Amino acid sequence: MKKALITGIAGQDGSYLAELLLSKGYEVHGVVRRIAIEDSEHKLKNISHLLDRIHLHVASLDNVLSLIKVVRTIEPAECYHLAASSFVSYSFEDEISILNNNVNNTHYLLAALREFAPDCRIYFAGSSELFGSVVAAPQDETTPFNPRSIYGISKMASYHLLKNYREQYGLFSCAGILYNHESPRRGYEFVTRKIVSSAVKIKLGLQKTVALGNLDAHRDWGYAPDYVQAMWLMLQADTPDDYVVATGETHSVREFVELVFTSLGLDYQDHVQVDPQFFRPTEKVRLCGNPHKIESVLGWKRTACLSEIIAEMVTAELALHHQG
Ligand code: GDP
Repeated sequence: MKKALITGIAGQDGSYLAELLLSKGYEVHGVVRRIAIEDSEHKLKNISHLLDRIHLHVASLDNVLSLIKVVRTIEPAECYHLAASSFVSYSFEDEISILNNNVNNTHYLLAALREFAPDCRIYFAGSSELFGSVVAAPQDETTPFNPRSIYGISKMASYHLLKNYREQYGLFSCAGILYNHESPRRGYEFVTRKIVSSAVKIKLGLQKTVALGNLDAHRDWGYAPDYVQAMWLMLQADTPDDYVVATGETHSVREFVELVFTSLGLDYQDHVQVDPQFFRPTEKVRLCGNPHKIESVLGWKRTACLSEIIAEMVTAELALHHQG
C-alpha cells in the first residue's frame, strides 16, 4: 500500500485529494495543527467523513523537529504540500508572517524529505499568483513570474527552493501552477462561495442584498476535484516537471453572479450592490492559463464547466440550510 502525506489536508484541495488517494488504495496521512483537532467541528469539517479512513498527525509545519518526526514515522512515497497562509490582508505584520511561514515551511519540509525520505515524490501547490502582473494572456509554463502579492512572492521563493532541490539533490518534485478552482468546499472569503451562499440566503428570505466588489473582474475558474487529479498525475509521470493547470477560459464575476441568481429564479440586479471596499488594485491583463502542456503530456482533462460547478455549489448550499 502506497503511503501519501498531505499538508493542508483539511482544506478544499486536501480533502478532495484525500478522497482521490483513498479511492486509489493509498494509505493517507495528513498533518494538522493541534488547534484543528481541538476545534474539529469547524476546522476539520471538509474531512469529517474521512476521519476513520485517514491518519492525522499533529505537527506544526514551522517546527522542523515535529515535521522530521512525521516524515520518519511515515516514510511517504508521495507528499503533497498544499498548506500555506493565504490571508487577503495587507497589514505589515501579516505580510511578514505570510512570507516567513510559507517559505520556511516549504524549506523545512523539503529538507526533512531529502534527509529521511529521499525517494518521496513531492507535489508543491504553486499558484497563478506567481504570474501576478502579466503582460500577455494566456500564460503558460514559459511565462515569466512577476508576483504582485506577498502570497505570490512567498510561492515564488518556495518554487525556487523546490526547483533547487530537484536540480541539486535529485528530488522528484513538481509544481502545479493552479488557477482558481472552486467547489462546495471553497472558503467563504472567496468570491464564488460568497456569491452562492448569499444568493441562497436571499432565495430563502434570510437576507435581501449582497455587497460585492468589481463585477467586471475576470477569473479562470476550474473545478477543484479536477485539479487534485492533476496533482496526482504529476507525481505518476516518468520525470518531474511543472505544469499550468487551468481551463483556458475566463468569465467575469458578473457572469458568475448572473448564472447563480438565475439558477435560483432571481434577478441579480435586484439584490447585488457594488461596494468599493471589496475592490482590488486593477489588473491590466487577465490571468488566464493555458493547460496545453498538462493535457498533452499527462493526458489531463477537465470534467466540469462553469455552469456545472455552479449547479453543484448551489445544490450543496441549499442542502446545508435544509440540514441545519
Ligand atoms: P483570488 O483573488 O483570485 O484569490 O480569488 P477571489 O475569489 O477572492 O476573487 C476573485 C475576483 O473576484 C477578484 O478579481 C476580486 O476582485 C473579485 N471580487 C469582486 N467582488 C468580490 C468580493 O466581494 N469578494 C472577493 N473575495 N472578491 C471579489
